[in-house]
Amino acid sequence: MNNLMTVEHLSVKYGNNEVLSDIHFSVEEGDYIGLVGANGSGKTTLIKALLGLLPLNGGTVRFEGDRRIGYLPQAAISADALFPAEVSEIVATGLLGLKRFPRFILKSDQIAINDILRRLDIFHLKQKRLGDLSGGQQQRVLLARAMVAKPSLLILDEPTSALDPKVREDFFELIGDINQKDRTTIILVSHDMESVLTHATKVMMLDRRLLFFGSTEAFVEQHFEKGGFH
Ligand code: ADP
Repeated sequence: MNNLMTVEHLSVKYGNNEVLSDIHFSVEEGDYIGLVGANGSGKTTLIKALLGLLPLNGGTVRFEGDRRIGYLPQAAISADALFPAEVSEIVATGLLGLKRFPRFILKSDQIAINDILRRLDIFHLKQKRLGDLSGGQQQRVLLARAMVAKPSLLILDEPTSALDPKVREDFFELIGDINQKDRTTIILVSHDMESVLTHATKVMMLDRRLLFFGSTEAFVEQHFEKGGFH
């Protein structure tokens, strides 16, 4: 397996408050990592640090090749019913970050947009407005935006928390498929331990420090099999 990203001795502070200390792990191509931890344990802060959105207080985040990360932000489903953009325009914004001015959508971009809409089974929604779609459909549109530039790493921050159980299962199935068939590397942030243990192949557990990083099997063995969760 090829290494994709290595994090060493990472620490992050807000003012004097160190919320992440000495975090170290590496991500291999094809990993499906479930990032778990209580509220306030530093999950979102770690994601922001990986995305390069926060200054590090110490340590390094090293990528093999480009830092090409697709990001599905937390609680994205709050779409105003009047939000005027069409699905294809929203997905197109996932390509704009790669461009220099002038930022035009080219023919090749249209092809990439159509491809990802088909891959996620939402091509028929291409001309619809986001606000007219169901929660599950909206989440697929935002996933398409995160994936249209073909990222080497896809980070999903609580992607299913606003979805009902059936739609949530469908979404997890899709993510599993993207991981296995398309070999896309995934970090899934979730407070839903059961879903993580069902779907992810590795677990990362934070409490401002790294409490655990390893295979899901090893995590289950350590935390569950000797007399329940602890
Ligand atoms: P999680 O995503 O696991 O809930 P966060 O990374 O959001 O955790 O937060 C970790 C800690 O950092 C919390 O104590 C939170 O209050 C604090 N924190 C998060 N963002 C900021 C910020 N912008 N400024 C100051 N403190 C912050």
